Amino acid sequence: MKIFVTGGAGYIGSHVVALLGRQGHNVLVYDNLSTGHEWAVLSGKLVRGDLGDKKLLADTMREYMPDAVMHFAASIQVEESVREPLMYYRNNVINTINLLEAVTNLDIRYFIYSSSAATYGAPDAAGPIGEDAPLEPINPYGATKAMIEKVLEGLGAARDFRYIALRYFNVAGADPQGLIGQAYREATHLITRALKVALGEYEMLSVFGTDYPTPDGTCIRDYIHVEDLAGAHLLALMYLRQTGDSGVMNCGYGHGYSVLDVVKAVKKVTGADIAVRMTDRRAGDPPSLVADSSRLKRLTGWLPLYDDLEFIIETAWKWEQKMAKR
Ligand code: UDP
Repeated sequence: MKIFVTGGAGYIGSHVVALLGRQGHNVLVYDNLSTGHEWAVLSGKLVRGDLGDKKLLADTMREYMPDAVMHFAASIQVEESVREPLMYYRNNVINTINLLEAVTNLDIRYFIYSSSAATYGAPDAAGPIGEDAPLEPINPYGATKAMIEKVLEGLGAARDFRYIALRYFNVAGADPQGLIGQAYREATHLITRALKVALGEYEMLSVFGTDYPTPDGTCIRDYIHVEDLAGAHLLALMYLRQTGDSGVMNCGYGHGYSVLDVVKAVKKVTGADIAVRMTDRRAGDPPSLVADSSRLKRLTGWLPLYDDLEFIIETAWKWEQKMAKR
């Protein structure tokens, strides 16, 4: 298939692009390189462009005429979204609508969307969340992702447009071959940040909040290896082509780890002592997010290969060490 990938130079997008390439698909990456990198695009062609540039977007897409679009380009930091809501609504909502206009103008039928567990807000139950749980986002980031899900639903009802929205839980780890991984200018995600403390790039790790209603008082998240998540995208696209059934699917392993569990595992994998400082809660963080991914498994046959926190951290650790030498 010919697949147009926005944000394909970024962390998750680049892993999906590499997998698409390995499976023989033809890829065009459209990315403004605001957080992504040219070196991360291991397959296909890269066009440097912004989703705000409607003309370049429409021209690029018309010339390429893809069979499907995968949309990764977005702003993704919860805390930043609380401080800069307009930037999030512009980047994640307005720019996605620009993309959907280009998609519908060319009658492109298949669309895979990067949604998020942040759409659920702060679920009451600590157990795994199913896709039918109410969407009550508690921060602008989650709100932007939920809004676009509604837009997709409306489009699917209005015309011959088929989509899968994948609700990612906490994506971590790096390509096991060590070619690509997370490479943001400023590390904010827990595992990356802890590894950078292990490397000495930061002095300490702040643990954001110790008074949450969880067993050790710190937040619980379902950490999924980026390679397993990449696989889910290909399966979702195949499912969409075979069945034509649009829908939403959670992507996670179904069990969570607290911030302190992660710190312990990072210490074990790296052998380093991670200096930790307990601080106040970070704005916008819910206590616990754990996926019920039975729908993804049942409908697409997804079988995770790397459901192992230490393995996730090991792949990220190899990547961080490689990046530090660059
Ligand atoms: N976290 C933390 N210290 C950090 C970064 C994150 O305690 O330096 C916590 C954060 O409050 C959340 C969890 O780790 O409970 C995962 O945060 P991350 O930013 O990795 O992903 P998010 O859940 O926000 O998508």
